[in-house]
Amino acid sequence: MIYRAPIAEQHFVLDSIADIGGLSDLPAFEAVSAAVVESILLESAKLAEEVLAPLNRIGDAQGASFSENTVTLPAGFVEAYRKYAAGGWASLGGDPAHGGQGLPFALGCAVQEQLTSANMAFAVCMTLTQGAIEALSAHGSKEQKELYLTRLINGDWTGTMNLTEPQAGSDVGALRTKAERRPDGSYHITGSKIFITWGEHDAAENIIHLVLARVPGAPEGTRGISLFLVPKCLDGGARNDVRCESIEHKLGIHASPTCTMSFGENGQCIGYLVGAENGGMRAMFTMMNHARIGVGLQGVAVAERAYQGALAYARERVQGKRIVEHADVRRMLMTMKATTEAIRALVYFTAAALDRAHADADPEKGREAQLLADLLTPIAKAYATDMGVEMASLAIQVFGGVGYIEETGIAQHLRDSRIAPIYEGTNGIQALDLVSRKLPQGHWRRLLAEIDYFVSSLPDGEDIGHMRLHLADAVGSLKYASEWLAGKQSSDDIAAGATPYLRLFGTVVCAWLLTKQAVIARAQLNAGKGDTRFLNAKIAIARFFAEQMLPPAAALRGPITCGAGMLYALSEEQLAADSRQH
Ligand SMILES: Cc1cc2nc3c(=O)[nH]c(=O)nc-3n(C[C@H](O)[C@H](O)[C@H](O)COP(=O)(O)OP(=O)(O)OC[C@H]3O[C@@H](n4cnc5c(N)ncnc54)[C@H](O)[C@@H]3O)c2cc1C
Repeated sequence: MIYRAPIAEQHFVLDSIADIGGLSDLPAFEAVSAAVVESILLESAKLAEEVLAPLNRIGDAQGASFSENTVTLPAGFVEAYRKYAAGGWASLGGDPAHGGQGLPFALGCAVQEQLTSANMAFAVCMTLTQGAIEALSAHGSKEQKELYLTRLINGDWTGTMNLTEPQAGSDVGALRTKAERRPDGSYHITGSKIFITWGEHDAAENIIHLVLARVPGAPEGTRGISLFLVPKCLDGGARNDVRCESIEHKLGIHASPTCTMSFGENGQCIGYLVGAENGGMRAMFTMMNHARIGVGLQGVAVAERAYQGALAYARERVQGKRIVEHADVRRMLMTMKATTEAIRALVYFTAAALDRAHADADPEKGREAQLLADLLTPIAKAYATDMGVEMASLAIQVFGGVGYIEETGIAQHLRDSRIAPIYEGTNGIQALDLVSRKLPQGHWRRLLAEIDYFVSSLPDGEDIGHMRLHLADAVGSLKYASEWLAGKQSSDDIAAGATPYLRLFGTVVCAWLLTKQAVIARAQLNAGKGDTRFLNAKIAIARFFAEQMLPPAAALRGPITCGAGMLYALSEEQLAADSRQH
């Protein structure tokens, strides 16, 4: 299936939602002009469409392979990685002091979306390397930046994140990997990690592992975790005592090696502390915030790719008439198009908030932007990835029976997308983060006030006026649910409402961002500017989302405020009971 990067749409969202023009007013991003954005999107589209997309099926069919502690990527992947590195794509967001281009993360997201739509298993390596770059930029020493950051930014080397151990998944604080200080200030690392994405491969000469471990006497739980940099090859080129023991056989992203890593089997694994001892979670959060937005982006990318496949098929397949003409197929295609545009806006908006948090010279504005990014990050990760899976599934439905057959290629997107709600903190954990950490920060009040004001000032009129009622109703539900959760003492009740609350919040923010685009599209049409077909579609999509997706979301206020009682209405024995025993 052919992939075409949605450049006009991406550019419109960068302008209207990420406010890339406003970002370029900040000194850090002054090099970003409309022409720069356009040429970057056009060039990255070439890499995505011509190099990565043709490898997507090959990667799925061949998968990464393992033999004697080495991993071989599928045919063509190493060459593709070289093209990616040689094109300077790894350096887009990097610090100019270390060879980066210093471009906004929001723009990097648009590029990464294209690469991921083209080939998710390939592009996930970039998401993790980017996380490592962020963590080292924020917490690395001067020497670490000079030695490692520059090589990650220029794409010579790739990076990994090593949190998970068999007994420590969502409960990161349960990890047991050890780090003992050596006389020269470095550390001996011993332990093993599972499920490490791109932990070993043959595309880059070195791999920089960022590893969470405990120093002797560290406090229990997350307070006693430190972050270490463990290179596969040490300075000077000798191999460090870190090895890939095996790779997983899994549902999707077959070309992305998911590695079991052993550190210090021969007592010789050397690691370097990043930041302070026991300060690992802080450093890790820097990495995870970017990576979480990056994983949310995977939801957008897969939804876009699945939509393109479904649309192409629907325009050709005839059942009485071409299936694209049947109302129910239109319902599915409109749902896919509207949802994809909605989550794209959500993710770019969140990335732009992080850009402002880092780059706004006014500390108060920077703090506000950070609070907004904090609030929206779990929503962008979880809502967008849930939607990615739902849209990939809907694409199979559009294909009918052949969608379930591997040869069409559409099933791969559902298999690939299914990991995104699980890794980088499961979506259940994202929802808990939203209700237990982000809600108490109080920034939701400010955001809802802004949305409220926007809704009340929507102009009357045939199309946009219709959206106002639905938006007002859904915002009212979200306010009610937020107040209810904020006022609750029982953590069980709060946790019970977390997932439907995140979905309601995500849907409302998406509807708001789509309606904003519709208002801008209407203004451009009135001014006789822009592509009429594209702008009218923007208005129709926003209206579809408001009328079709908002009402069921608004009804989530009931389940959110139900309390935990209903979830525990059956005892564990009753959950296990076999009806034949009664
Ligand atoms: C393909 C793949 C790639 C991965 N890549 C990496 C990587 O590069 N680096 C890395 O470190 N890890 C990686 N992981 C691991 C991934 O991040 C974990 O699988 C994930 O965090 C969940 O942990 P777990 O599998 O132990 O599930 P568990 O923590 O056992 O969770 C099982 C279920 O219980 C729920 N649950 C658990 N605790 C709670 C709670 N407190 N409240 C409510 N619900 C809860 C979860 O939401 C989930 O639904 C990868 C995993 C896979 C499959």
